Amino acid sequence: MHIKEKIHSASTLNLVLMHILVSFKHALHFNNIYAKLVLIACLLSFNQNIIAQEYKTIEAKNGDGIYGVLRDNNIPLSKINDFLRLNEDKLKGSRELRIGETYKLPLTELDPIETPQAKPAQKTEADNITRRFPIFGSQYQDVEIESNELDGAVFYLVSGHGGPDPGAVGYYQGKMLCEDEYAYDITLRLARNLVARGAKAYMIIRDPNDGIRDDWYLPHDNDEVCWPNLRIPANHNARLRQRKDAVNSLYMQHRGQYQRMIEIHIDSRSSGEKIDVFFYHDRRSNKGKKLATTLRDVFDQKYNQHQPGRGYNGTVSDRNLYMLKHTYPVATFIELGNINHERDLRRFIIVSNRQALANWLADGLIEDYKNNR
Ligand SMILES: [Zn+2]
Repeated sequence: MHIKEKIHSASTLNLVLMHILVSFKHALHFNNIYAKLVLIACLLSFNQNIIAQEYKTIEAKNGDGIYGVLRDNNIPLSKINDFLRLNEDKLKGSRELRIGETYKLPLTELDPIETPQAKPAQKTEADNITRRFPIFGSQYQDVEIESNELDGAVFYLVSGHGGPDPGAVGYYQGKMLCEDEYAYDITLRLARNLVARGAKAYMIIRDPNDGIRDDWYLPHDNDEVCWPNLRIPANHNARLRQRKDAVNSLYMQHRGQYQRMIEIHIDSRSSGEKIDVFFYHDRRSNKGKKLATTLRDVFDQKYNQHQPGRGYNGTVSDRNLYMLKHTYPVATFIELGNINHERDLRRFIIVSNRQALANWLADGLIEDYKNNR
């Protein structure tokens, strides 16, 4: 499981405050140097405002990049994640500096705040780099960056349908289950896995108020928009054109980087009693075929490991699909099953199954990145 929830609940905050108060009381009472240090460490590590006052800032000039700014201020480049974390409210997921904007600089060993006494508390905070993505919803928006293995990779994640188009529809216990909601939830989980590994991931279809949902039933709505914030048209062709344009314009901004588009559906044609997962690629794209094959191989391996004998069948083939044909990045279009099929339903209404599918997709993408970066 890649997801480590980081919930800053009211009770945690209370504990922190209590800790500070208790330390403060001891410091006064016993006039003890150790207690004073504990107090300082607590205040430093828990009160962002106090820390903020100590940071040096710079104003970005024309042509400034993050690495250049760090270099010019004698800050080791290994501090880039600290820079991203300190300025995440201004960067909003981007790595570009805006001219005239003020940015905080990470502390270095020479800064007075990192005195030997304060170091232990400082360090535990700095080790956890957490970035906030409200699109994942209040429970999941804080993402702990676990590794940088996908650093430099850019993913365009397109969940099928959305807006006025619910996609395929299934029924379970009197509820209507719409493909677009379940595809969206899996796609969000995948996006979160990817950013936790250092990737940049764009959710092309976006729902402003549905984050990752840990419910079996995901009620249908039609307020999804297309990147960055466009109403999704009712006309089928206009809809595909709109998401193709979103992917292609972002692609141009990341030229030269490893870029992949993954589109996720749950409305496969299926045959027999097997679980069928289809990985499609464009006929002309060898890299697309490689990507699809790598993902299929990971699924083969995971199904054999977790559900041997279940009768899984994952296939790779080319298919003449608009999104594969007309988008610039190397792409794969995946049908994870069919929400309208009794046999497949369970895989999508069980939350841990949606998470597992997202994890396997992330594993496959990491594998592809390793081999093709
Ligand atoms: Zn679909």
